[in-house]
Amino acid sequence: MTHVIPESPCPACAYPMNRADNVHGPAGAPEVGSLTLCLNCGQLLVFDAPSSLRMPTREEISEVMADSKAWEVIEKSQYFIKERGPIRRAR
Ligand SMILES: [Zn+2]
Repeated sequence: MTHVIPESPCPACAYPMNRADNVHGPAGAPEVGSLTLCLNCGQLLVFDAPSSLRMPTREEISEVMADSKAWEVIEKSQYFIKERGPIRRAR
């Protein structure tokens, strides 16, 4: 399910993110601590607040890597995003 979120720039590429999809689990809106990917650059990000995204900590990356199914989804998604190339070039 796609959720409209307050517009927030990707901390890696500044792409303005305003939608988030829940790929598994309950179809709720993203919460503080939810992971997401930037559709422009593929960076793994964490919701700090509904309108604030940040880079994940080493611990958060290790935690999600320990969940092989979740990590597989992330890696495949990042592969497709990087193969497609950015939606919008960095300025
Ligand atoms: Zn990005």
